Amino acid sequence: MVKLEYIWLDGYQPTQSLRSKTKIERNFSGKLEDLPMWSFDGSSTRQAPGGSSDCLLKPVFMVKDPQRKDAYLVMCEVLEASGKPHASNGRATIEDDDNDFWFGFEQEYFLWSPDNNKPLGFPDGGYPNPQGQYYCSVGANNAFGRDIVEEHLDVCLAAGLNVEGINAEVAAGQWEFQIFAKGAKEAGDQIWIARYLLERIGEKYGVSINWHCKPLGTLDWNGSGMHANFSNTLLRTAGNKVVYDKVCEAFRPVVREHIDVYGADNHLRLTGLHETASIHDFSYGVSDRGASIRIPVATVEKGWKGYLEDRRPNSAADPYKVAARIIKTVKSVAV
Ligand code: ADP
Ligand code: MN
Ligand code: MN
Ligand code: MN
Ligand code: MN
Repeated sequence: MVKLEYIWLDGYQPTQSLRSKTKIERNFSGKLEDLPMWSFDGSSTRQAPGGSSDCLLKPVFMVKDPQRKDAYLVMCEVLEASGKPHASNGRATIEDDDNDFWFGFEQEYFLWSPDNNKPLGFPDGGYPNPQGQYYCSVGANNAFGRDIVEEHLDVCLAAGLNVEGINAEVAAGQWEFQIFAKGAKEAGDQIWIARYLLERIGEKYGVSINWHCKPLGTLDWNGSGMHANFSNTLLRTAGNKVVYDKVCEAFRPVVREHIDVYGADNHLRLTGLHETASIHDFSYGVSDRGASIRIPVATVEKGWKGYLEDRRPNSAADPYKVAARIIKTVKSVAV
């Protein structure tokens, strides 16, 4: 007997949250294609009216669940009872899941205390020292919640997720993990499962995960992003600046379309301060962390062979939609 945790995205807008429930299966082969469809009450997740509440869960991605005996985590797409993809199903809107596109998402987030409704490391009254001492820090005055972060890293790796690194971020209680994957679906699946695991580990510690892009509002504290590093064969083999300029310029006329899927409340984060570009501008530049798109200096040093970093997606964005939009824009480039 195995425990299958069926995970899906609910119907809340503009930011969808994770939901899940456990299915016990006997004699499971261990193969994704042998996982049965399942259903849930969509009227409790803003995905259906009470009168016809059934929504379907279609398993699309599976990893081992290292925190539970004989168990798997199963990412699902939500379908209407008719079998057609539900309006909330962003994964199903990926038109072109081209595995030639590689994505490295840098997921930032805050560990948040439900007791005082502040990041870990913030005292009940007032504020900790201003930003500066926290990024990539060590020590009890600087890094808050490392036990959670370490446990999350171990669990992600044991599950087989492609985590490439972690670091303490610029604000107190703020952290980041990076995941690399090929294709929009796989990249999104991995990020969503990693988010799920982080939420669940947080329960154990009584700490919640704040995915909002600017949880400390207009105060002088960094917001959270989900920088999207991406490449395709074109970018990996270009060998000249002209190709990079063309690809970056392709993003300029579709700023609106990108911002639409780069996460809720991004105008609060993309202010031009705190290592961001203004939401109203579009810019790109080598090594420029104040640009919309950064061209990593290593890409230039390798003779214009490498990748780009779109710095605009925020921590609460849906990686399926971000990746799909990037593929669409890059593919519009005629070389
Ligand atoms: P930063 O300096 O912006 O903090 P990180 O080291 O946190 O950078 O993240 C860089 C990300 O870029 C990693 O997730 C990595 O997987 C990704 N990356 C590296 N090379 C490529 C590539 N060729 N295509 C796509 N992503 C890449
Ligand atoms: Mn019931
Ligand atoms: Mn990073
Ligand atoms: Mn970062
Ligand atoms: Mn980055």
